[in-house]
Amino acid sequence: MQDYLTKATVEGVRIYALRTTELVRKVAKMHNCSHVAGAALGRAMTGALLLAATMKDGERINIRLSGDGPLGEVIADAEGNFVRGYVQHPDIFLPLKNGKLDVGGAVGQGKIIVTRYLQNAEPFTGFCELKNGEIADDLTYYLYKSEQTPASVALGVLVAPDGDVLAAGGFFIQAMPGAEDKVLEQLEKNVMRTPYVTQLLEIGYTPEKIIEILGRDLQVNIRENIPVGFRCRCSREKIMNALASLDKKTLQEMAEDEITEAHCDFCNTTYQFSKAEMAKILAGK
Ligand SMILES: [Zn+2]
Repeated sequence: MQDYLTKATVEGVRIYALRTTELVRKVAKMHNCSHVAGAALGRAMTGALLLAATMKDGERINIRLSGDGPLGEVIADAEGNFVRGYVQHPDIFLPLKNGKLDVGGAVGQGKIIVTRYLQNAEPFTGFCELKNGEIADDLTYYLYKSEQTPASVALGVLVAPDGDVLAAGGFFIQAMPGAEDKVLEQLEKNVMRTPYVTQLLEIGYTPEKIIEILGRDLQVNIRENIPVGFRCRCSREKIMNALASLDKKTLQEMAEDEITEAHCDFCNTTYQFSKAEMAKILAGK
């Protein structure tokens, strides 16, 4: 089944839900993630896709969870229906906490930093302290505290004992101006009664079906389904431009090596540049 995001409105409230199982499985493998690292990265990427869906075409969002836990930084970057991300220390293991992966313990305490790259405006960066490192609560708290947006974010990644990603996804609920209190109260009740999003996805529920459950006893309007996936923004040319922006002395030192390697953390790709290519970059300085 293809991963996708469903956009809906429920009586003046925006509800988005998405399934990212294939995407998270692919990226967790790409980065050789442990169980808890895959869960943290999967949640962050799913959250970034949900927030990117609220933005305009060509706009981008970068989410950085910078905690003092063993995972180091968790970074997710989404533009439209594509996302990429990485974890600083993807190989760490932690004991389960109450039978669940301890994402909060792995992220630790610190800050969440969000940058929005907007059309026709300077990039906007906001931050606040992490609520609990579980990522969904951190995003909800960030939106409220730093962007004054009351919203509710739920994220989940279910990892099998052998490390395979069985289900991943989430939902996002945001009241638009003018939404009625009684609708919000009903939604709150519905959210409380809704099982974990991964439990629903694992038994085959689609994003539309999850929205119907969240919006039960209310008027649900499904707007559109958008396929989502992984895509890195890096390219050989972009890496070359980044090299060219280094100072001359550093470049000269690098150009002495037979092969210069540059690594993209987002897709775990290593680019190699020959002595001749480095000389060319240097000549352009
Ligand atoms: Zn890349």
